[in-house]
Amino acid sequence: MPVTRRKFLKYSAGSAAVLGVSLFDNPLLRKAFASAIQETPIIWLAAGACSGCSVSLLNALSPRIQDVLLDQVVPGHHTELAFHPTVMAASGDLAMKAMYDTEERPFLLVVEGSVPTKDGGVACEVGEKNGQGITGLEHVLRLGGKAKAVIAIGSCAAYGGVPKAPPNPTGSKGVMEVFKENGIDTPTINVPGCAAHPDWFIGTVAAILLNGPESVKVDQYGRPEMFYKPLIHDNCPLRGHFDAGRFAKNYGDPYCLYKLGCKGPITHANCPEKKFNGGVNWCIENRHPCIGCAEPEFPFTQTLAGTVPIADATPPSLYPPIFTDHTRKFDVTPVYTALAGAAAGAVGVKVFKKDGDKESSDGEGKE
Ligand code: SF4
Ligand code: SF4
Repeated sequence: MPVTRRKFLKYSAGSAAVLGVSLFDNPLLRKAFASAIQETPIIWLAAGACSGCSVSLLNALSPRIQDVLLDQVVPGHHTELAFHPTVMAASGDLAMKAMYDTEERPFLLVVEGSVPTKDGGVACEVGEKNGQGITGLEHVLRLGGKAKAVIAIGSCAAYGGVPKAPPNPTGSKGVMEVFKENGIDTPTINVPGCAAHPDWFIGTVAAILLNGPESVKVDQYGRPEMFYKPLIHDNCPLRGHFDAGRFAKNYGDPYCLYKLGCKGPITHANCPEKKFNGGVNWCIENRHPCIGCAEPEFPFTQTLAGTVPIADATPPSLYPPIFTDHTRKFDVTPVYTALAGAAAGAVGVKVFKKDGDKESSDGEGKE
């Protein structure tokens, strides 16, 4: 089957992305791609947002946000941030005109922040018409129905986040929930996080531009699997301490943060690999528990310091039981754990409380 020029460029771009090489280093290929550039305008709508995800994106280092906006996101594709309430130079009617003009072309909609819906969504207004404020809800419904694809960036846009936490006086909801209630079926991808990692957003945009929104494999919560499949607990540098039963009792202690409320055992994201601020650090390496900001339940109904059930940790028979009462003292004793129905046995550990035991003398916080 003959390969067309367009298909060749697409395959080359895909291969380069997989291999992590830059096609732009080759002047001939660069010229070939430049002649086939497609421009996709982006309307970035901020509803019930703190702008944290915008700030996170502006911190992107590789590629930098300038590169994303001024160069090609992927070879052959260029984005144009046509409307962004926080960073655009225009304001007032001029800014709103930029939005209205852009929505007449094929565009990508990015929503940051939850969508207040109570009383028609009066808690959030973006621009005005004839002296009347236009609600974020109205914009989301109008633009959502027209867009080629929608990215709900941050936990608030994805699932409602902090504004949706009880008692939720503004009736805030995530974008997908609002779309569902209003019969909008535009392809929508959730990129949660508080704030979302810039690579999660840029990678999702790149994948949409390259092969369309349907090509992005998402999990049951609408998150791209390429970023949100790994369980933080399975890739945590403190996992050895968890397995050994060494738990931090105070912030700053160098041990597993489970008992301080770490949500790593139920949170899926590649933070341990990506890290933040250009790969400098991330929550747990900074000795702060993961607060589970990439999960739909965030910010949870329990306190941030509340412990979560260990559901996915394997093999569970090798872990010491977890206790949240820090005043207890334990001693680890090896026992043999029988495997039901299996011929072989496995050596496990079991923790027994021993009243009157002295504090562990190795000073490593063992319990
Ligand atoms: S509970 Fe948190 S700190 Fe402890 S190993 Fe799991 S992810 Fe790391
Ligand atoms: S480590 Fe947890 S709290 Fe921190 S950014 Fe990742 S998912 Fe969010």
